[in-house]
Amino acid sequence: MLRVTEIFRSIQGESTHAGRPCSFVRLTGCPMRCVWCDSEYTFTGGTQMSIEEVIDRVKEFDCKLVEVTGGEPLAQKEAFPLIQRLCDEGFEVLIESGNYVPTDDVDQRAKIILDVKCPASGEEGRNHWPNLQRLRKDRDEVKFVVANEGDWTYATRIIKDYDLENRALSILISPVWGEYNLKDLAAAVADSGLNVRMQLQLHKYIWGPDVKGV
Ligand code: SF4
Repeated sequence: MLRVTEIFRSIQGESTHAGRPCSFVRLTGCPMRCVWCDSEYTFTGGTQMSIEEVIDRVKEFDCKLVEVTGGEPLAQKEAFPLIQRLCDEGFEVLIESGNYVPTDDVDQRAKIILDVKCPASGEEGRNHWPNLQRLRKDRDEVKFVVANEGDWTYATRIIKDYDLENRALSILISPVWGEYNLKDLAAAVADSGLNVRMQLQLHKYIWGPDVKGV
């Protein structure tokens, strides 16, 4: 059984898939405690559901793109067979993971968006670095959520140290909502000489920063 916080259809708010219709399966629970976390409501509660019940619900949305997110979706062992079943059913599957759990057992057909934790998150020390070496250039994306200039500098160092421009389909630079001056970050990205993509969380601009299930 899986513990599920919410299942809903919306548009993808982040990554190179931003703007696409997408069903979301938000699993409950996360072993991390990022200072700026915007999903604290997923830490507890949730509803017990079987994989079949989740699949049936997702099918109702008639949407080919599905994202499994959290919380930390890979913290639940049953997430792995769920991802496999979604792939078997022909869905294009995205996994948004906080780089704490090893990704080697994720179904190879799924696309991973790996959220590398920067120092201001308070969870930098829990990054599972081998995940970066497993990124696949044709499908996986890596994301740095940056709260300040120190995080941006850290991200540029990790990008170079792990040769991420040649490992990942896209490198996403995402400012913490309300923390990093957007013009300052845009200037830093423009000046960086790096093949990265600054992104804003589309759903927060459309529905506001505190609305759930959208
Ligand atoms: S990994 Fe994600 S869900 Fe977990 S605390 Fe950090 S931001 Fe929140």
